[in-house]
Amino acid sequence: MDLSDPTGVSKVLHDKGLRATPQRMAVLAAIGQLSHPAAEEVARLVMESYPTLSLATVYNTLDTLENQGLIRCFKVEGRRRFDLRTEAHHHLWCTECQRMDDVPVTVAPGFDDLADSGWEVEDVVVTYKGVCPRCQARSNHAGA
Ligand SMILES: [Zn+2]
Ligand SMILES: [Zn+2]
Repeated sequence: MDLSDPTGVSKVLHDKGLRATPQRMAVLAAIGQLSHPAAEEVARLVMESYPTLSLATVYNTLDTLENQGLIRCFKVEGRRRFDLRTEAHHHLWCTECQRMDDVPVTVAPGFDDLADSGWEVEDVVVTYKGVCPRCQARSNHAGA
């Protein structure tokens, strides 16, 4: 989803039968700005602009957007994270600062191998855990 084009975003919402309310637009913008935030991080940022919004409203908005396939939700270490990119891709996760970067995939691995298992595979979520360049630089500076 291209958030720099509000008209396009509201059209995407409309196509899913959703009104482009300011809350929904703000939630989408927050996810885009934060990159793979947890629900409470989305809520914190949205409530800076909309202090009267309740936490429940933000969480419900996230659920609605996810149910309509406009955003993706996946769990890292038991915490739900939200992603504007809905096509299959993997993630790099920094165990120090919790930052997540995207890893592009052209083919979701394993789908073909699983064909005989009887499962109907709908999605694949791969997370590489490690330490991001910024955190490595910081710990090097600290002499660690
Ligand atoms: Zn880091
Ligand atoms: Zn992602």
